[in-house]
Amino acid sequence: MKLVTTPSAPDPAGPVKAMPKPTGMLQCNRCGGRTSVTVTNGTVVRNGRKIGGTVLERDVCDDCRRLGIYSPMVRPLGVVS
Ligand SMILES: [Zn+2]
Repeated sequence: MKLVTTPSAPDPAGPVKAMPKPTGMLQCNRCGGRTSVTVTNGTVVRNGRKIGGTVLERDVCDDCRRLGIYSPMVRPLGVVS
């Protein structure tokens, strides 16, 4: 039996980051990544739907998060004085 390997997938980070950014798309200010994650704790699946849970992190860059770096993609609204 001949071993056949599949060709490796292209790195999605390179070509995607070089593409022009559509208006309104979230993009990391640090690395240019466009993958965001929202982390919740305590979510329950009931009747096939996710219910509840506490949002711990919202719209954080996943590429930076994998490296252990916290990089929010949306700045929190500040208090206007
Ligand atoms: Zn990033």
